[in-house]
Amino acid sequence: MSRAASPAIYHGRTGNVARYVGLFSSMVRSRFVTGRPFFLAHATTFGCNSHCQTCSYWKLTPRMKEDLPTAEVFSLLDEAYAAGMRGYYQFGGEPLIRKDVGTVIDYARAKGFYTAINTNGSMLAAKAEALGSLDVAFVSLDYFDAYHDVIRGRPGNFDEVIRGIDRLRALTAAKVTLVTTISSLNPGAMERTAQLAKDLGVGIAFNSIEPTLDFGLTDSDQSPNLKFQLSPEQLHQFYVTALRLKREGYPLMETEEVLEGYVADRPWKCEFPKMFVYVTPDKKIYSCDYRFGYDLKTGSFEEYFSSEMFRSHVRSAEACNRCVRTCVRNYAYTYELRPRHLLHLAQNAAGLYRPGTTAAPRRPAEAGAPS
Ligand code: SF4
Ligand code: SF4
Repeated sequence: MSRAASPAIYHGRTGNVARYVGLFSSMVRSRFVTGRPFFLAHATTFGCNSHCQTCSYWKLTPRMKEDLPTAEVFSLLDEAYAAGMRGYYQFGGEPLIRKDVGTVIDYARAKGFYTAINTNGSMLAAKAEALGSLDVAFVSLDYFDAYHDVIRGRPGNFDEVIRGIDRLRALTAAKVTLVTTISSLNPGAMERTAQLAKDLGVGIAFNSIEPTLDFGLTDSDQSPNLKFQLSPEQLHQFYVTALRLKREGYPLMETEEVLEGYVADRPWKCEFPKMFVYVTPDKKIYSCDYRFGYDLKTGSFEEYFSSEMFRSHVRSAEACNRCVRTCVRNYAYTYELRPRHLLHLAQNAAGLYRPGTTAAPRRPAEAGAPS
């Protein structure tokens, strides 16, 4: 499908409001009625062009031949929309290595999805023009200078990220948030990377390193990146530092309530399986801990959400506090509609995306494309 045939970038402000309302309504419906996910988290490719020391997904690149063709990605989006989902989040691998990334994001947006992508930034400048339908870009950056390239095993990636963000913000209205993973390779990087985010006028989210696995090759207990994990003392210091930075006004995505919970080691209830359904490049649903796979090629979202497999995942998640990803607790507090947390999120939304040093956001449609 050519970009000219895609209706997505022709959505105006009314379309945006409808999509935001649709996303919020689908969350409320999930919270009070269905208990089913409203966000499709789609790993669109097994391929990646980085060699991060803290991740093993790049080893899956030969499995790119299992990635769904464009038409089947469209069908997946149709199925997800019919099942009540209104958020579409692309990750990988590296999603920008797919030739159809812009076309798929266009399709999702035209369908009515809120659209987000997680990228290593390597191809952001080259693909920015195709991403006019993107709402949010999460861009990985693990250090405030070119040492990032060493962690990521990709020479020049720091410069690619900075250039890519600049280009994306010049050509689209997408919001940008850095995602910084803290491991034993960069434990002291937090404050200066937060300062960089502030200087760029973008948000920043901090995660500590977590296990990754290569599907079918190892399991999470054997994850090779665990050799870079933080000690319990370092992990505690990670949360203490994040809370301090947040209170000092750096543009962290995490709310104070979430970070206070980590610092005080308060238990929390994971709502992740009720919010996100995680689909692999070959169209399988995996649990967050990769303990099962459900084949959507032979089944359906409806069948999966009605299954004991799904229900037991929801039950086990509610008792699971294992995640070190701060975003998961952030999502849980949002789902639970905690008033102080929601107030802080609203403040984030108002303050995180101040205009930076780049040109004012501009959609391709406003620059002369058909509307
Ligand atoms: S962290 Fe992301 S960019 Fe790095 S190897 Fe893994 S999938 Fe690729
Ligand atoms: S806290 Fe547990 S159930 Fe929730 S996302 Fe993390 S690993 Fe999964």
